[in-house]
Amino acid sequence: MRTSLLDYAGYACPVEGLGPGRRGILWVRGCGRRCPGCIAPEMWEPGEALPIEPLARELLPQLAGVDGLTISGGEPFNQAAALCALIDRLREDVDVEVLVYTGFLLEELRAGGGDAAALLDRLDLLIDGPFMESAPNTRRWRGSDNQRVHLLSPRAGRYAAEAALPMPEPRPLQVQMVTPVSFRVIGIPRRGDVAAYRQAMAALREKVQE
Ligand code: SF4
Repeated sequence: MRTSLLDYAGYACPVEGLGPGRRGILWVRGCGRRCPGCIAPEMWEPGEALPIEPLARELLPQLAGVDGLTISGGEPFNQAAALCALIDRLREDVDVEVLVYTGFLLEELRAGGGDAAALLDRLDLLIDGPFMESAPNTRRWRGSDNQRVHLLSPRAGRYAAEAALPMPEPRPLQVQMVTPVSFRVIGIPRRGDVAAYRQAMAALREKVQE
């Protein structure tokens, strides 16, 4: 299960709205689920896997000043072994609280055992279940209301009340410039706003390219 390479698209820190408090967010690449309305279709295709050690060294100074690390995608459990290695490396220096978003259900992951179970053992919080465009998104931290927040570690128990709250309004959203002509929305927009953001970004892209 040891691996020293992770296929990831980038990270940002600090962000709000993707788990408790202010956090770092790491996006991994590769997801075959293809949920309609996915906010991150650019994460579907795998890319080049990169060494974990330099990533850990970049993340560590930033994580020292926030409440934890959120890992999203893409599908993090497609790279469970690599994420175990990353979390272990980070925790050599900082006992970072880790939240993962997954399209799988906790029960499926537990039944599968192996690397997925090893990753679950390392997590504080898991937000599980496929993104459903047809479901409302009114519940804190969830992309759609069918998703569930699991408090997996004893220290995550303090979030039980907060996890049951509705999404704060206005929603905490950030935009990260990925390249001069591409942008990433960080956070969970209201239904319908995703299309508006895409339109605004396409217009901005055209302007930058002029
Ligand atoms: S599981 Fe997540 S990343 Fe994959 S398609 Fe669905 S919403 Fe997008």
